[in-house]
Amino acid sequence: MKPLIIANWKCNPATKKEAEQLFKDIFKVIKKTKKVEVLIAPPFVWLPFLKKAKLCAQNCFWEEKGPYTGEVSPKMLQDIGIEYVIIGHSERRNHFNETDEMINKKLKSALSVGLIPILCVGEKKGENAETVIENQLNKDLEGISEEEKNKIIVAYEPVWAIGTGDSCESCDAERVLKFIKKQYKNRILYGGSVDSKIINNYLNIGYEGALVGGVSLKAEEFVKTIEVI
Ligand code: PEP
Repeated sequence: MKPLIIANWKCNPATKKEAEQLFKDIFKVIKKTKKVEVLIAPPFVWLPFLKKAKLCAQNCFWEEKGPYTGEVSPKMLQDIGIEYVIIGHSERRNHFNETDEMINKKLKSALSVGLIPILCVGEKKGENAETVIENQLNKDLEGISEEEKNKIIVAYEPVWAIGTGDSCESCDAERVLKFIKKQYKNRILYGGSVDSKIINNYLNIGYEGALVGGVSLKAEEFVKTIEVI
């Protein structure tokens, strides 16, 4: 299977013009690459304008429709042709108080309409990675059948490494990968300040791709990160 690289644009860029320019700059490379599968995860509003790429939403709600102002449902995403959705990103867990119970509902709802969830897990600074991840996976995946679980892609993202420039030493990242693999059989990605200099460290120890945040907004460095794989 090709490594999967997800460009998580977070709440960027601020204008449609900038979003289209960033997309143009990276799309000319990603459409040619045969070695890597690339998903672009822009804010909801830019999704319809970037249809040439494989797209991933950054979040979803759990109900299909109804009186939930400001929410976007998995059914709506699926209806406009989106195939993937990030669920449980640490920024949502921390800034928007998303709980594992909410994440569990979102996963079930996304799976019910055929979206492929990218489930983010990981510890904060000073916490024990294995304890946190075991707890998150148990709660997030509760009541989801083995068959459905196998459709979910887990991303290990140590919270202290996101957007900080800190990288998880290969030995720690490898230990955590083995730990997740014991209880979970599908693809596992790494995320946390990944760039062209360190991407292969994670792929070489067995991660099957990466979630790339900050660097995905810098076309030249993002393209380089893909090309060095
Ligand atoms: C992320 O947002 O999931 C992420 C990994 O961000 P960054 O690459 O900036 O650390």
